[in-house]
Amino acid sequence: MARLFSGGPLVIASHNSGKVREIRDLLQPLGADVIAAADLGLPEPAETGRSFLANAEIKALAAATASGHPALADDSGLVVAALRNQPGIYSARWAGPEKDFAKAMAEVEARLSGIIDRRGHFACALALAWPDGHVETFSGNVYGTLVWPPRGDRGFGYDPMFVPDGYDITFGEMPPEEKHRISHRAKAFHRLVQACFPGPVTA
Ligand code: IMP
Repeated sequence: MARLFSGGPLVIASHNSGKVREIRDLLQPLGADVIAAADLGLPEPAETGRSFLANAEIKALAAATASGHPALADDSGLVVAALRNQPGIYSARWAGPEKDFAKAMAEVEARLSGIIDRRGHFACALALAWPDGHVETFSGNVYGTLVWPPRGDRGFGYDPMFVPDGYDITFGEMPPEEKHRISHRAKAFHRLVQACFPGPVTA
């Protein structure tokens, strides 16, 4: 049985503003009192894990122990089977220090040149950690096809080149409410909420 979140402040252990926005939106119905790690001046730990889950745990534990509050971290990325699952856990790094996702998407497209298989999925691992070192983890995937050129200016990261199965628009073109219904992050969140947030949270 998973440990329950019992209210009070919840730190979002991410310095990625796109992710913080989506996590806030997803947590909003729960009424949790959410604080972003950047607003507390928490440092970003090195992501030295070899999987999304390992990196989510590292980030959540670092924020929980530094802040003294439960902390939620997301580690996620784009996985392309034909590229031997790259960029995967290196999805953010492909954008370089300047976080240029036009460049990162162009890199994916260049490596797919001449390859017929354009399937890909977004993967999300969530870790909810407590200051005493306890951690609960959850994951979710959304499958689709990579298109070129990129389309749409909603979302973030690789969204403009990803068309989820069953749609003909990219995540970059999709209204946020729709992305929040079907995304990798939404699926992992659903599992987290079922396990750790049994009812409305009171701060
Ligand atoms: P990290 O989890 O902070 O190491 O970085 C994950 C990276 O994966 C982000 O910077 C994005 O490039 C990419 N990514 C994760 N989730 C999404 C998403 O929902 N849409 C588009 N790109 C995403």
